[in-house]
Amino acid sequence: MEKIGIFGGTYNPPHVGHLNIVSKFVAEYELDRVLIIPTFVPPHKVTPDLVPARDRLEMCRRTFSDPIFEVSDIEIERQGKSYTYDTLIELKGLYKKAQFYFLCGDDMLLSLHTWHKPKGILDYCTIVSTVRSDDLRLEDLEAYAKEYFPAEFLEGKIQFMPIEPLELSSTEIRKKRKNGESVEGLVTPATLEYIESGGLYL
Ligand code: ATP
Repeated sequence: MEKIGIFGGTYNPPHVGHLNIVSKFVAEYELDRVLIIPTFVPPHKVTPDLVPARDRLEMCRRTFSDPIFEVSDIEIERQGKSYTYDTLIELKGLYKKAQFYFLCGDDMLLSLHTWHKPKGILDYCTIVSTVRSDDLRLEDLEAYAKEYFPAEFLEGKIQFMPIEPLELSSTEIRKKRKNGESVEGLVTPATLEYIESGGLYL
């Protein structure tokens, strides 16, 4: 059965920190492919310096250029609120026989009980949470999973992947651009070219 990873984000812009974590995800879970899914961000939402979806999609294609990655516009096309549950339903229809692994940041995992239909999500995929923050240890994350989703946790539907995060965020990249600093090395060369030639984040 095909093993498909899912890695969503705003990707404003995608950077080498994303590439670093998703590479580990591919290796640890022996994934056959990974869907990179930029989220739709509604026009009225206050997101400073958000570049248009077509730019985020193109930067994702340039960042995640290995054939194992597939950049998907599924959430951007759907518009509205990007609920993970809805995305999974759509993906199930597209990849009927696949097994899905959903990569999620540890801070995000701790709000899983407030997401739209969390149990439905766990019916459709295995959640793989990173373990990275200094103050979020594996035991705390496991305690959370056991408290809110005991049956699913026992079934192995919530798993953990310790990572050595690169100290890097899209916010930092946007800030550097605003200050006229170079972001070389923080994004892939092809993405750098796109950002610079398009004058993004100035
Ligand atoms: P921003 O600074 O604009 O909030 P971001 O750099 O966190 O953006 P997102 O597109 O929001 O990027 O991130 C998508 C996913 O990647 C999230 O789950 C986030 O936890 C994870 N992520 C982002 N940066 C890193 C990093 N340096 N190391 C590991 N994971 C990361």
